[in-house]
Amino acid sequence: MLTNYHTHCFRCQHADGTVEDYVLQALKHKFDILGMSDHVPYPHHDYGFRMEMAEIWDYIYEVENAKKKYSGMIEILLGFESEYLCSQRKYYEELLNDYHVEYLVLGQHFFDYGGRFKSSFSINDSADCVTYAKSVAEGLSTGYYSLFAHPDIVGINQLPWDRNMDEMTDIIVESAVKYDIPLEVNANGIRRGIVNDELGQHYMYPHYKFWEKAAQAKAKTIISADCHSPNLLLDEDVRRARRFADAMGLNVIDVLPIGKNL
Ligand SMILES: [Zn+2]
Ligand SMILES: [Zn+2]
Repeated sequence: MLTNYHTHCFRCQHADGTVEDYVLQALKHKFDILGMSDHVPYPHHDYGFRMEMAEIWDYIYEVENAKKKYSGMIEILLGFESEYLCSQRKYYEELLNDYHVEYLVLGQHFFDYGGRFKSSFSINDSADCVTYAKSVAEGLSTGYYSLFAHPDIVGINQLPWDRNMDEMTDIIVESAVKYDIPLEVNANGIRRGIVNDELGQHYMYPHYKFWEKAAQAKAKTIISADCHSPNLLLDEDVRRARRFADAMGLNVIDVLPIGKNL
């Protein structure tokens, strides 16, 4: 089965292509399932890098129309990539129950941090990676999410791998296994290139130190393009992500169990 559950579109303001552009690309490569998961807007705050709240129904209709138009040719799913913020629980439930969103991908780009928010991309103390992991564990426990995207995204901060990084990994891998939510090997991390540090040459993410523990725990793993352009749906970096997962001995699944766990 050829699938991708982490797909963006032009609405998030940092991607190209309409939903249909991604569907056509998926058909060209003979995908079985294409899940659209653009960055979710929030009702009372604009966190940037995403569609405006006023566009949410346009996006939903666009996906619904593609579902009808290409029915029988490919399975198209309506999803969002969403952070987990404790204050937004009611909204996440509305998305799943009232907006007919079929699945949410957890992408913890920022997290609750002592009454404020902290960006996962600007962490300079590895202790904050443990706070990140705890916010993730709480998110995964809610049942809102079907997949956890780029679980090791804090690798982008290039902090030395220390005991806090191990603790972060243990918290995330244990909750993913406990709540049976697949972890994602993210091709966008591979697109960001290789770094050379005290561990040698490696991707910032997927970070091999994280995935060693995921492999040991036999955590379910999904490979995603996280494409922000249609031609990245199945490019060389997605193939590299597959090779990475194989080399790490990960428990890769192709089809995501979709269904509300609420
Ligand atoms: Zn994005
Ligand atoms: Zn994404």
